[in-house]
Amino acid sequence: MRRNSGDGEPQKGRSCGTCTLCCTQLEIESKPGYSTRLDNAEDIAKPAGQRCSYLTARGCSIYEVRPLVCRQFACDWLLGEKTFGPEDSPMKTGRIGVRGVTLHFQNHRQPQIRRSPIRG
Ligand code: SF4
Ligand code: SF4
Repeated sequence: MRRNSGDGEPQKGRSCGTCTLCCTQLEIESKPGYSTRLDNAEDIAKPAGQRCSYLTARGCSIYEVRPLVCRQFACDWLLGEKTFGPEDSPMKTGRIGVRGVTLHFQNHRQPQIRRSPIRG
């Protein structure tokens, strides 16, 4: 999962709710400084399209102790970037915006990466 800078706050009125799309669809990169490890040194790095082993039907099973990489991530819709209106939540559309690039998913395969038109 590529990370944002960690300084973004969700736009007022938006929250992940029951969406967990990024826990499956995004790559989690194991790089110095990304803190993808749990306290017990298990690394959650994984390729895009692979479900995180900690993701359950009820959401993240280690939510309280999830690594920093998960705590810091927010997709563009959650941050209120203007290419994503209120109706464009990833759960509804299957699209995740990450720093201006929109990842379109089809049948849970690898994402097609293309830029979405800027609105307004
Ligand atoms: S894709 Fe966006 S809205 Fe969905 S769980 Fe991830 S950060 Fe939250
Ligand atoms: S550890 Fe939890 S929040 Fe992080 S990718 Fe896995 S299921 Fe999602």
